[in-house]
Amino acid sequence: MTDIEGNIRYLRQQIPQSVKIVAVSKTKPVSDILTAYNAGQRIFGENRLQELQTKRDQLPSDIEWHFIGHLQSKKVKQIVQHAAMIQSVDSFRLLSVIDKVALRAGVVADCLIQFHIAREETKFGFSPEEAIEMFRSADFKNMRNVRIRGVMGMATFTDDMEAVREEFRLLKKWFTTIRNDFFQEKNEFSEISMGMSGDYLVGIEEGATIVRIGSLIFGERG
Ligand SMILES: *Cc1c(COP(=O)(O)O)cnc(C)c1O
Repeated sequence: MTDIEGNIRYLRQQIPQSVKIVAVSKTKPVSDILTAYNAGQRIFGENRLQELQTKRDQLPSDIEWHFIGHLQSKKVKQIVQHAAMIQSVDSFRLLSVIDKVALRAGVVADCLIQFHIAREETKFGFSPEEAIEMFRSADFKNMRNVRIRGVMGMATFTDDMEAVREEFRLLKKWFTTIRNDFFQEKNEFSEISMGMSGDYLVGIEEGATIVRIGSLIFGERG
C-alpha cells in the first residue's frame, strides 16, 4: 500500500513553501486523490480531458486542476471550463484557440508556455525562436482572454542529473529572456514549472516555482 499521506508530508518537508506542488493523479482513482486532499493537497494535475472531468465531478470543488497533457483544439472548451491552469500550451495555434474559446466563455485562461527542452523528439513544446515570434506578433498582442503565467518544460528521461540540470537551466534562461523582453510590466509572468518525481530537487535548485509530482505521491502507475 502506498502511503499517500506520508509521501505528501515528506515532500512538503523537502520542498520550500514558496514552491507549489502539483500532485499528478493521472490513471489514479478518485479515492487516492481524496486521501491526498485530506492530507492538505489542493492542486492536482491530469493529462486527459475525460479523466479530469470524471474526477472533478466526484471531488471537492476547491481542488485546483491543472491540465498537463497535449491538448487538441476540439477539447479546449471543456478544459477552459474545468482547469485552473493549462500548463501545456505547445503551439501558437492552440493558444489562439484557447483565447477565442475563453472570450466566448467570458473568462481569462491562465496558461504556461511549454518549451521543448528534452533530447527526445517525442516531447511537445516551443523552441525559443517560435516563442519569440509568437510574442512579437500582433495576433498575440491582441489576445485578451489568455494570461501567460510562465513556462513549463519536461527534461529528458534519464538518470544523468547533470544533463537534466542543463535542460532546466536552459528553461530558466529562456524564461528570464522572455520576461525581460515581453512581460516586464506583468508580474503574473512568474511561474517556472519544472521537475517531476525523478528530478524535482534539481528543478528546485534551478529555480522551479512549480513541481509536478506523480509516482512519488501515488506510487508507480500501472
Ligand atoms: C506524468 C507527468 C508528470 C509526473 O510524472 P512522475 O514521474 O510520476 O512524477 C509530470 N509532468 C507531466 C507533464 C506528466 O505527464
